[in-house]
Amino acid sequence: MTAIAPAPVDTTTSNSELGHIYCCNPDLALCGTDISDMAEIDAEEEVDCIVCNDLEAHPCPTCAN
Ligand SMILES: [Zn+2]
Ligand SMILES: [Zn+2]
Repeated sequence: MTAIAPAPVDTTTSNSELGHIYCCNPDLALCGTDISDMAEIDAEEEVDCIVCNDLEAHPCPTCAN
């Protein structure tokens, strides 16, 4: 009988692969994550970040002023 080891869970990229959205500052997501190194996602694409998703309907602090 051969035991199969569970596949290691890769946690290194779990956060950076999230889809974020930004408003005025393309380097800063609505949730506050620095996305300057991340690929831009289309507005049509799924926003995986629940914080960004939640804030999408609200103006960012800069726009609110
Ligand atoms: Zn804004
Ligand atoms: Zn986000």
